[in-house]
Amino acid sequence: MTNYKQILQKIEQEIKPFSNEGMVSTSIPELALISPFKFGIHLVDTARVDSSIGDSNEKFSIQSISKVLSLSCAFKFLGENTWSRVGVEPSGNPFNSLVQLEYEKGKPRNPFVNAGAIVIADILVSNLKSPKSDFLNFVRNLANCDTINFNEEVALSEKKVGYRNAALANLLKSFGNIENDVDEVLDFYFHQCSIEMTCKELAHSFYFFANGGYTLAQNHRILTESQIKRLNALMQTCGFYDESGEFAYKVGLPGKSGIGGGIIAIHPQKYCVATWSPKLNEKGNSVMGMKALELLTTETQMSIF
Ligand code: GLU
Repeated sequence: MTNYKQILQKIEQEIKPFSNEGMVSTSIPELALISPFKFGIHLVDTARVDSSIGDSNEKFSIQSISKVLSLSCAFKFLGENTWSRVGVEPSGNPFNSLVQLEYEKGKPRNPFVNAGAIVIADILVSNLKSPKSDFLNFVRNLANCDTINFNEEVALSEKKVGYRNAALANLLKSFGNIENDVDEVLDFYFHQCSIEMTCKELAHSFYFFANGGYTLAQNHRILTESQIKRLNALMQTCGFYDESGEFAYKVGLPGKSGIGGGIIAIHPQKYCVATWSPKLNEKGNSVMGMKALELLTTETQMSIF
């Protein structure tokens, strides 16, 4: 059996020279307040063994990582019909680009660019009875943790400067790809992004992607084997802004990053790992998180390729 704890401790030493690289995101004012030197990893393997290092028990803003969880929830309702409203191709453009959406007539490239995630938010607003609290409960159940919550200050902070997301939502609405009130959809979207979790909670909530669709604590089936295959493929091709190719090349695992500095990565049938370090590279991915995951797949000599 692989001793992941030992490997993570080795990575913790090897990663130190990278601690001065990158910058904390300032696009959401509230997020810029975080201490830049936080660093944590939590890995849970399919033998259900937990291994962690550093600040892995401190909550942080999961931001775009939430897009995978909202998609998983929407996919339960719409299945393959989801793809009539949002595509499955990498965008090759910044995650908040308006231009591509205009010339592709309101159908976002994939569910992980902002426009795509806003369409998914709209699907959840249409299908959930109390959208925000039902979605929060969905996430809490995945992680088997009741303390997971929205951060209202972060949601409000994003709303105050969310001009570009408002523009995307309105453009989508003009193409008929938003069913609900634009403000309600944006409120849902800002809240889902503001969810805070520790590395441990994040790794536990994504465990079903490594475990054929079944959750860690209660063995609930969230998605089918075939749906897991599809969403893992989407994470592999679209999960890292316009650096998904680089991540596949260096790490070789499906995953998703967020501007809060978190990264989730999945080795199907083996483990699920969450990293957190707030300093980002110019593409918006955590410098230390990406490096740590590259070291992890190199050290274990296991990736999906
Ligand atoms: N809430 C952020 C936005 O919409 C998410 C950004 C990210 O983590 O990629 O801009």
